[in-house]
Amino acid sequence: MDRHRLEKTYAGSYKREYPFGDNCGYCGQSADSEDHIPPLAILPMLIAAGEGDRYERRLIPACRDCNVRLGASHAMTLRKRRKVLASRLERKYKHLLRRVVWDEDELSEMGRNMRGYIETSQAKREYVMERLRVLRYFS
Ligand SMILES: [Zn+2]
Repeated sequence: MDRHRLEKTYAGSYKREYPFGDNCGYCGQSADSEDHIPPLAILPMLIAAGEGDRYERRLIPACRDCNVRLGASHAMTLRKRRKVLASRLERKYKHLLRRVVWDEDELSEMGRNMRGYIETSQAKREYVMERLRVLRYFS
């Protein structure tokens, strides 16, 4: 079944939940999509296997990155999905997370381009670490 038909057939059977209000129910950043548990792509197989009612159907606000990164992950609880996300984020940003953190004094001695590059990279690192903190704390 294509995505549109899946939505039409099953979307109404999912119950909306708001673990972190309107923010992403996984990493806590602002949400711009919704994640289906179990994933819509998997539900028909569960139903065919007589397991259609085994998992509560939940619709969770999600940021695009968490949603895409989860894909059709078979983790069926929020906690397990947060664990999956944390390990996928750690793998994806392994190098960024290991990078040396420069302080203000060190940055002030650098040229403008180098400083800009490092500040951008450190801001991204902070963003990823904040998401990981939330994912780990609630999983
Ligand atoms: Zn997220």
